Amino acid sequence: MVEVHSNIKKMKEYAKENNVPIMLDDGINFLTNFIIKHKIKNVLEIGTAIGYSAIMMALASPTVKITSIEKDHERYLEAVKNIKKFDLEDRITLIYNDALEIEFDNNFDLIFIDAAKGKDLAFFEKFSKNLESNGFIVTDNINFHGYVAKDEQEIKSKNLRSLVKKIKIYIEFLKNNQEFNTTFYEIGDGISVSSRN
Ligand code: SAM
Repeated sequence: MVEVHSNIKKMKEYAKENNVPIMLDDGINFLTNFIIKHKIKNVLEIGTAIGYSAIMMALASPTVKITSIEKDHERYLEAVKNIKKFDLEDRITLIYNDALEIEFDNNFDLIFIDAAKGKDLAFFEKFSKNLESNGFIVTDNINFHGYVAKDEQEIKSKNLRSLVKKIKIYIEFLKNNQEFNTTFYEIGDGISVSSRN
C-alpha cells in the first residue's frame, strides 16, 4: 500500500516535471467513484499519456479492464513502465497509435475521451458505435482551463482560439444530440457524461 502511494506520487511528479497533462485530483476522484458506482467493467480510454488515469481507474476497482490508446511514443513507453510497476499488465492494455486509426469490434461500458481537445467530436462520433447500450462517454477538459467561458476576443493566440471554438462546437453537439443525454459537471477542468436516451 505504501509502495502504491509512493508510485502514484512519483508518477504525478514525473508528469509535472515533464509537462505531461494528467487529470486533476478532483477529476480523477470523480472518474474513479463513477467506475465504482456504475460497476464499470470495460473502459476504452483515448489518451493514455503516462498511464496515470488508467492506473487510477484500475486501482479503484479490481474487476475493471482498460484499453488505452496513446499516439506519443515517449509517453506510451513511460505508461508501459508504470503499468508494469503497478503489476497491472493483465488489466490494462496499451495501444500505441493514433486513436483515429483504430477500429474495435468489441464494446465498452465506459469510453473516456482525454486526448487532443480539438478532436473530441471526432472521437465521440467514431467510438460511440463501440458503446454498450447502457454505457457512458465521459469527456475531460470541457472548460479548457477556463478559456471556454471567456470572450473569444480576449484570447490572443489564434491556435488557442480555434481550439476553444472546437470545444464549443463539441459542447453544442452534446447539448443538441438526440441520441445521447449529457450532464456537465464543474469538476476538475470540466467533465461531461453522456449516455444514450
Ligand atoms: N488520461 C491521461 C491522464 O489523465 O493520466 C492524460 C491524457 S493527456 C491529457 C492527452 C494525451 O492524448 C496526450 O498524451 C496525447 O499525446 C494523446 N493524444 C492526443 N491525440 C491523440 C490521438 N489522436 N490518439 C491517441 N492519443 C492521442
